[in-house]
Amino acid sequence: MADVTGKTVINNLCVIGTGLIGGSFCLALKQAGACNRITGAGRREETLQKAQQLKIIDGYETDIAAAVKDADVVFVSVPLGATQAVFIKIEAGLEQAGNHHAIITDAGSSKQQVQQIADNVFGVNASRFVAGHPIAGTENSGPGAAFAELYKNRRVILTPTNNTDEDAVKLVKALWQKTGASVEIMDAEHHDKVLAATSHLPHLLAFGLVHCLENMDDIEDIFRFAAGGFRDFTRIASSDPTMWRDICLHNQQPILEMMQRFRAELDMLYNAMASADGEKLMEVFQHAKNTRDKFIH
Ligand code: NAP
Repeated sequence: MADVTGKTVINNLCVIGTGLIGGSFCLALKQAGACNRITGAGRREETLQKAQQLKIIDGYETDIAAAVKDADVVFVSVPLGATQAVFIKIEAGLEQAGNHHAIITDAGSSKQQVQQIADNVFGVNASRFVAGHPIAGTENSGPGAAFAELYKNRRVILTPTNNTDEDAVKLVKALWQKTGASVEIMDAEHHDKVLAATSHLPHLLAFGLVHCLENMDDIEDIFRFAAGGFRDFTRIASSDPTMWRDICLHNQQPILEMMQRFRAELDMLYNAMASADGEKLMEVFQHAKNTRDKFIH
């Protein structure tokens, strides 16, 4: 069925959720010639029609269970809150069709809860589920935001368990590599901690800053004179609210721990400011600059 070394890796790909992440996955695999046919499925038919018009998918089904029946791989890229309902439909569709070979993978931004849902829903078939997360994205959503180069030179994290089938991991890895991404394997718990620090907390801070400013009297001037730094810092506050609500709720503990740390940092900066402690401010800013310059080029 699958040839992880060849140009064409699989025959039939089914993508549930043809937005930015799912749509870009399809476009990149089509460009690489890595699969022969892509079937889309999701929630609203107009989204699927648009994805077909944009040649992201070759066809679609409005019923998820029907969409997966011939799939070699099912890629789930829906908001995290929809994961359980979608997994239940996938399991029913594969069971009904007698499809015992399909590999299921996802792109959700938190991994421990998704794995728990997969274990509950797929039961003995959970060995064919490979949890994944591309470290790539933009603040835009929907099929219109998808582009083939999204994953080029970006990282994708897979978080298999001891129970995950090794060939399934190889296949999902091969597909991601065809998109131009490099793949890293990580423990789900570690993934959730790292992402809480580098992605989830920054999004909360950006949403929080814009929300805080929006209640000020001189809101018009604040945004009229917003300079590059403000735009850079708050760009991610234009991300989809549903997606971010779901990420926060699905990675609650690691994010709360990061919020505590940051609250202590803000208190420390507040005290330095209140006591006009230039030395302290200089020390913090210099350390932060050194760290960023070292790790982010
Ligand atoms: P998106 O552009 O909004 O696409 C989401 C897709 O899911 C849409 O096609 C939507 O179709 C469909 N959908 C929504 N609710 C559904 C439901 N209840 N049942 C079935 N389909 C449903 O979002 P995205 O940015 O691609 O994100 C998808 C996943 O990737 C999320 O889990 C997110 O955590 C993860 N992720 C996102 C990024 C990022 O930067 N955006 C990066 C890495 C990972 P309708 O139009 O019909 O609702």
